[in-house]
Formats: sequence, structure tokens, C-alpha cells
Amino acid sequence: MSRLEDLCQQRGVKLTRPRRAVLQVLEESNDHPTVSDIHRRVTQKHHIALGTTYRILNRLTAEGVLRRCVFGDDKARYEPAGSPHYHLIDHDTGAIVEVSDDRLTALLKQLVRGLGYRMIACHVEIIGEIEDNSVRIRRRPRGNMVT
Ligand SMILES: [Zn+2]
Repeated sequence: MSRLEDLCQQRGVKLTRPRRAVLQVLEESNDHPTVSDIHRRVTQKHHIALGTTYRILNRLTAEGVLRRCVFGDDKARYEPAGSPHYHLIDHDTGAIVEVSDDRLTALLKQLVRGLGYRMIACHVEIIGEIEDNSVRIRRRPRGNMVT
């Protein structure tokens, strides 16, 4: 049984065939796929309607099995819930780099605690560009990215 299937069982989410198919796609993805990406990958092996894919993703997100992320292009993207990390978006290519730093997590928890809250989720999105002083080529910014 995969880690995400195990998590579903812990949360009391029934493992139907379509849910297993969606979970398998997410287990095998490391690119933060959109609903369309996930549906296209699932339907390579299974016949599952787009609406069913949406419902499964909503349910699994509500149960804390998956995490929904929305970056600069305003598309909902999904990844397995679990290890806390932040997202660095490459301003030029739109590539998503996962960043993990326990010190930052501890700092954010402390900040929130100081305001009288307990942090239950955190979404940090960093927009960056590669620093390379040897390359003087001016890159054209992408129109759909947050600046
Ligand atoms: Zn991520």
C-alpha cells in the first residue's frame, strides 16, 4: 500500500478504484500537476470522467491527503500533503522549486503564536530569478507570472 493510500485509511477515506488511480498519479508526479494534467495522466490507464477527478481531488484535499497550491498562473495544482515546504517560482521559466527550511518553519510558527494563533497550514511562494553575473542576456519576463 502506498503512503497516500495508507493516509487515506488513517483518515477513513474509502479507497475506490478511481481514488487509487488519482493517488497513483500524484505519487508519481513531482511537478505540481493541474487538474487537467492529473486527468490526462489518469485516463492513460483508466476511464474516469473529468468531474470525478475534480470531486476526488476536492475530497482528498479536504481530508488532508493532498495539498492544493495556486501559483502565479492562478491554476489549482496538487501535491501529496506531508512534508512542509515552500515554493520558489522561477520568474523566467515558471519552474517550481521546492524549498524546505526548518528554521523558517519555526520562525513562522513563532510569529503566528505571538499573535495568539496556532499555525495549521502555511503557503509561502517566492518568486526568483537565477543570479548569474556571467550571463548578460536580458530575459523576457513571462506575462502570467506574479511579479
Ligand atoms: Zn510542493
